[in-house]
Amino acid sequence: MKLFTLYDNKAKGKFRAGWGFSCLIKWKCTILFDTGADVEILSHNARLFGIDKDEIKYCFISHLHGDHTGGLGWLKEVKVFRPGEYDGSIKGVTTLVFKHPLEQALMFEDERIMIVGCSHPGIVRMAERAYERYGKLKLIIGGMHLLDLSEVEVIQIANRLKELTELIAPCHCTGDKAIETFNSVFKERFVENYAGNKIEI
Ligand SMILES: [Zn+2]
Ligand SMILES: [Zn+2]
Repeated sequence: MKLFTLYDNKAKGKFRAGWGFSCLIKWKCTILFDTGADVEILSHNARLFGIDKDEIKYCFISHLHGDHTGGLGWLKEVKVFRPGEYDGSIKGVTTLVFKHPLEQALMFEDERIMIVGCSHPGIVRMAERAYERYGKLKLIIGGMHLLDLSEVEVIQIANRLKELTELIAPCHCTGDKAIETFNSVFKERFVENYAGNKIEI
């Protein structure tokens, strides 16, 4: 399984950065999770990865914020699942749907990989629900929205998450300081993530 970060607040090399998140998963089929804010940046980064958008079969949207939906116009004839719309038709793929506020995480059940958009319902709450169903996760990747929290609070969250997942790849709205804190708490289990990054797992 390969995860390509197509869109993030940070980028390396010739990849372009922009506020938002998008991750493409090459698995039994190719799935796009979120689309970033801007079609230009999304298509530029996909091109650099050599990704042909025609291979994308499904798109999951974590929540209806523009920094996750803005690139939707890039896709053609792709089945799009907004929060709560997924019918469970892809074997081994499920969504964890949270209502307050409305947001879904994408879950690869056998691989125990959870992908999140902004984690507005709370990253610990989301990870705990996944843990209850699937046991310890292999990887959580995406935005974790910890921008406004103190370092002490972020350390507590990181320590709790350390019990729930082996690897963590926080990016997007997690916040630079919180990402640094995750790095120091998770140590070798921390995965740096940015537009242009590819994770093979
Ligand atoms: Zn966001
Ligand atoms: Zn958001």
